[in-house]
Amino acid sequence: MNTAVPDVVVIGGGVIGLSTALELQGRGLAVTVIERDPDGHSASTGNAGAFAFSDVEPLAAPGIMRRAPGWLLDPLGPLSIPPAYALRIAPWMLRFWRASWRDRHAGAVQAQAALMAQSQTALERLVTATDAGPLLRREGQLQLYDNAASFRASLNGWENRRAHDITFELIEDNPARIAELQPGLDARFRFAAFTPDWFNVTDPGQWHAYLRDCFLARGGQFRRANARALRPSLDHVNVETDGAPIRAGHVVLAAGAWSHHLARTMGERLPLETERGYNTTLPDPRFRQKTHLSFADHGFVVTKVGQGIRVGGAVELGGLHLPPNYRRADVLLDKAKAFLPGLNAQGGTQWMGFRPSMPDSLPVIGRSITAARIIHAFGHGHLGLTQSAGTATLVADLVTGVRPAIALAPYRPDRFAFARLAKPHLREN
Ligand SMILES: Cc1cc2nc3c(=O)[nH]c(=O)nc-3n(C[C@H](O)[C@H](O)[C@H](O)COP(=O)(O)OP(=O)(O)OC[C@H]3O[C@@H](n4cnc5c(N)ncnc54)[C@H](O)[C@@H]3O)c2cc1C
Repeated sequence: MNTAVPDVVVIGGGVIGLSTALELQGRGLAVTVIERDPDGHSASTGNAGAFAFSDVEPLAAPGIMRRAPGWLLDPLGPLSIPPAYALRIAPWMLRFWRASWRDRHAGAVQAQAALMAQSQTALERLVTATDAGPLLRREGQLQLYDNAASFRASLNGWENRRAHDITFELIEDNPARIAELQPGLDARFRFAAFTPDWFNVTDPGQWHAYLRDCFLARGGQFRRANARALRPSLDHVNVETDGAPIRAGHVVLAAGAWSHHLARTMGERLPLETERGYNTTLPDPRFRQKTHLSFADHGFVVTKVGQGIRVGGAVELGGLHLPPNYRRADVLLDKAKAFLPGLNAQGGTQWMGFRPSMPDSLPVIGRSITAARIIHAFGHGHLGLTQSAGTATLVADLVTGVRPAIALAPYRPDRFAFARLAKPHLREN
């Protein structure tokens, strides 16, 4: 069904926007996606490709603030704050710290687990509906620890996962078992955890393109446009753009790390920041990777992408405008060479992407604070691919007036204080 005025406009053609657009379309609605940079390399095309359904532990976990200063002392370590951004990020860090307290953390684990379960079911449905099975690799994940102390420190998190029926195998001082799961690792690794139900896309860029093709093939509209402001009224929403305004019955705001700018144009102040991440994709790794590898103490992963291997991770709290510091990608690659001694690291392509992140590691999914016809769907941090299909079903429930299968309170846009501005900002800043 295509009408001049779409039922729904989705702002943002990343994995959240496209998954949501497909779900809305499946429910019989006319959907237009607007994207300002259709050929760009957003977080959704360059990520590590993991459906990390077992990652129910939010980053803001008890003890993190004791570990963080050590990481921050190393300017090229797994967590960094460029001095030029330190003041800007301080309020977000304060909320992150509060979210790591035991009382809040327990609730966040519950919420994360509920969204993971919803997402896994929704993804399997999406894969069947779109024949996307060949775009997945079901090979599990091996999480590696440097030593007994760091393995033991992780056990609490594994207990949390057990409570949510996540299947895993703990490997304690057993290099033979590690070598069986992944030959070719450096002998230092004696402690690990294996999550067999974890899976990956064969290539995040290909997955993203496939979602877009499915959406277009089913009659969806995809327009290049830069949304500048949202103007809701009782029975519709106007999206102001650089060109003519676009009118719709509902708007889904899925603009990744830029979403809060558009929310501000309606008078909403949401503590969205970006955790910038880096990676290098190696075209000819000459390493037979059997499973997704995560190096828990170093904040990076090694994953198969197409015929190559992608090495990446790290968190740089540096905002949207500072230039990338690709030394971070170099450092991760150096570590990968040490941990996988046979790896051919020649000819790699470096990339930096913007994870859209809230202080409590939970996304924002819910009606806008100021306008019922605008649904927020952003802030998925490290887990946007993983939670894309589940987010899509919840957003579609809100648009179509169906009661969502899980409680949405933990993801509400107004869960942090001072969420309303006295006056809307007239334009995206
Ligand atoms: C290094 C790295 C590794 C990662 N690995 C994984 C992983 O293995 N598994 C996982 O689940 N997640 C992973 N993530 C996180 C995941 O990539 C993100 O959470 C996810 O891609 C966010 O999707 P999105 O659609 O919200 O945002 P994006 O992909 O950023 O898409 C938002 C889109 O909105 C557009 N846009 C913004 N503003 C406007 C506007 N005003 N008008 C029009 N268009 C606009 C942008 O151009 C962009 O294309 C990783 C991220 C990084 C950086």
